[in-house]
Amino acid sequence: MKALVTGGAGFIGSHLCDYLVTHGHSVVALDDLSTGHVSNIAHLTDDPAFSMVQGSILDADLVRELVAECDSVFHLAAAVGVHTIVDQPLRSLRTNLHGTENVIEAAAAQRARFLIASTSEVYGKNDSDGLTENDDRILGSPLKSRWSYAAAKGLDELVAHIYATESGLPCVITRFFNIVGPRQTGRYGMVIPRFVQQALSGEPITVYGEGTQRRCFGSVFDVVPAMVQLLTAPTATSTAVNLGGREEVSIKGLADRVLELTGSSSEIRHIPYQEAYGDGYEDMQRRMPDLSLASELIGYAPRRALDDIITSVAAHARSAPATAPLEHTP
Ligand code: UDP
Repeated sequence: MKALVTGGAGFIGSHLCDYLVTHGHSVVALDDLSTGHVSNIAHLTDDPAFSMVQGSILDADLVRELVAECDSVFHLAAAVGVHTIVDQPLRSLRTNLHGTENVIEAAAAQRARFLIASTSEVYGKNDSDGLTENDDRILGSPLKSRWSYAAAKGLDELVAHIYATESGLPCVITRFFNIVGPRQTGRYGMVIPRFVQQALSGEPITVYGEGTQRRCFGSVFDVVPAMVQLLTAPTATSTAVNLGGREEVSIKGLADRVLELTGSSSEIRHIPYQEAYGDGYEDMQRRMPDLSLASELIGYAPRRALDDIITSVAAHARSAPATAPLEHTP
């Protein structure tokens, strides 16, 4: 395939570019380098099958021009990370709504195969045991900035679904559940790279609230091949599919695992939510995927355990220490 990867210099995007190039595809990465970084794709830049364009998905002409050269589009570019969404609510919404519509419109015009990265956030406050793709969303107040990401991604899914049904856009929506791996930065909120960086530098591990909230972390190395398989699998015109891991852990339990696996003696410090994120924040107590649909469609079965994920993040952090501090002032 000749694929456009929006957000190609980001964490998941750069691993997807690696995978596609390694498997004989040619790739154009589009990234505005707001949260992505050239170091994520530096090793690919000499490969003739890879090129990178610095630009925004808000630039509709550029998006159309790049999509016109491709037969497949992986749309991963978005304002991501709880801290980004809370700190820059309007900019994040614009990127996640208008930018995404530009990409969907261009893919539909080109009749390119289209995959859009969505998120478990769309389930909102639904903390059922094993969320399935058709489960209801329990929406948080639009006045709480945390939910703007869920609101935008939910609308993105709807726009993609409408283009699929009205214009025949072949479309897959992947809902990621806390995907983690090397190159993910903790600067925008993601908990595992934050805990690992804190553990390695001997700083306190910042557990927000009591740490009883639970998550199910998934490995980028399980999810990336699944994205490619889903894009090429003969499925219904528009399908939303959960992707992630199966091992559930409390955030306090996660802090303990990180300390043990890194051999760190950092203390665990509980930080009140308000101090971490400012007003208008609401956390999810639990978020766990049912992965049956992915298993049915492509035989998806996550192989990396939580300990492997933490170890790979720590190995990366040791080899490429973060240059920017994690400090965040709400
Ligand atoms: N979290 C934490 N300390 C941090 C960063 C995050 O305790 O330094 C918590 C956060 O409040 C949430 C969980 O870890 O309960 C996962 O946070 P993340 O931002 O990685 O993902 P999401 O909240 O979107 O699931």
